[in-house]
Amino acid sequence: MLIEEARVEVVEYARRLVPDRLVVGTAGNISVRAGDLLAVTPSGLDYDKLTPELVCVCDLAGKQVDGPLKPTSEMPMHLAVYHHTEHTAVVHTHSTAATVVSTLVDELPPVHYVMAFFGGPVRVSPYATFGTQQLAENMLKALEGRTGCILGNHGTVTVADSLAKAYTLSQTLEWLCEVWLRAKSVGEPRLLPPEEIANVAARVVGYGQQPPEETS
Ligand code: 13P
Ligand code: ZN
Repeated sequence: MLIEEARVEVVEYARRLVPDRLVVGTAGNISVRAGDLLAVTPSGLDYDKLTPELVCVCDLAGKQVDGPLKPTSEMPMHLAVYHHTEHTAVVHTHSTAATVVSTLVDELPPVHYVMAFFGGPVRVSPYATFGTQQLAENMLKALEGRTGCILGNHGTVTVADSLAKAYTLSQTLEWLCEVWLRAKSVGEPRLLPPEEIANVAARVVGYGQQPPEETS
């Protein structure tokens, strides 16, 4: 099977989207780049029916080269990331708190230092119809210098050099939005200054560890 490892990974994370409450039904989509090819979720397929064989494989021009189903309608967003950035994984969600925020502001206020994992305050892109080039362009602008953005009246996009990281960023973004909304619902949240977000951003470079490899 073409790019089997990438397809298996897409299934692993796509199957978590509904139980992790990042999407409802078949909303959202995921892709990962493997060399000059992408493994990407099919459009409108229940995630619990997804298998590695059903994951679509496309080239960087968006042409499908494997898989029996048509790819996500958001191919323009996924391709825009791969054409214009170094990132190799994209996660698109409709998570609740982030979608609520997407209807309220142009930028998520910096209420917590983990905002630094996104490279600075997370922007909200102007609304555009799903699946359009316009949406991809708006997203790309909002993503400049960031690893995540909120799509106006729509959802979120997070990007990274691995699907594991992009997925965790989408959970972190949802958590940040929830914190801001809750704080806002009971008062006027204290915000962190931009210098502190930049300071933390420098400190978290390379954050995260893996257990040592087993030696036999
Ligand atoms: P697809 O099912 O085509 O991936 O679309 C879901 C979505 O979230 C569109 O924005
Ligand atoms: Zn969507």
